[in-house]
Amino acid sequence: MMALLFSLITLPYAPNALEPVISQETIEYHHGKHLQTYVDNLNKLIAGTEFESMPLEDIVAKSQGAIFNNAGQILNHNLYFLQFRPVTGNPSPVTDIPSPLRDAINRDFGSFEAFKAEFEQKGTTLFGSGWVWLAANKDGKLVITQEPNAGNPVTKGLKPLLTMDVWEHAYYIDYRNRRAAHLQSLWQIINWDEINRRYTE
Ligand code: MN
Repeated sequence: MMALLFSLITLPYAPNALEPVISQETIEYHHGKHLQTYVDNLNKLIAGTEFESMPLEDIVAKSQGAIFNNAGQILNHNLYFLQFRPVTGNPSPVTDIPSPLRDAINRDFGSFEAFKAEFEQKGTTLFGSGWVWLAANKDGKLVITQEPNAGNPVTKGLKPLLTMDVWEHAYYIDYRNRRAAHLQSLWQIINWDEINRRYTE
């Protein structure tokens, strides 16, 4: 069977479009070097294995060790980079969240502000490297999970919707050690139409 090679996703915005929240330099390293390395590593690791013609989500669900780490990081980063849109100047993300996602956030967290506070708290307190996620269970109920290293809520049977990368490579150029400040700033560039699309698909 022909090997299914993975490739680096193309960003749907210019590398400087997310400034000042994420600098062009961070995008160039994070997308162009870190993510490219995961893609190159996975393609080498799966050659000649049962995984070489498998969709990415299936590899993440079924693999362990180095293959899981690189496949997980590709899936995580694809969802991460494709959830952003340029800064619009809208200071309140509450007003641009479409329903049914907006209704589900209010139902499951009480308010957007309560959701945002829990999400930032879980991202800030995740020890070491990893990801904080908004995910949905099979009934559409929303949950926030902390995933270490290359983790993704798909391994718990949840649908991943929104994520913040708390690996230092995601923020150290722009924010140095100020992880919380970085997480707080990311709300300005979330494309809620895309998050709602993931929720409803
Ligand atoms: Mn990253």
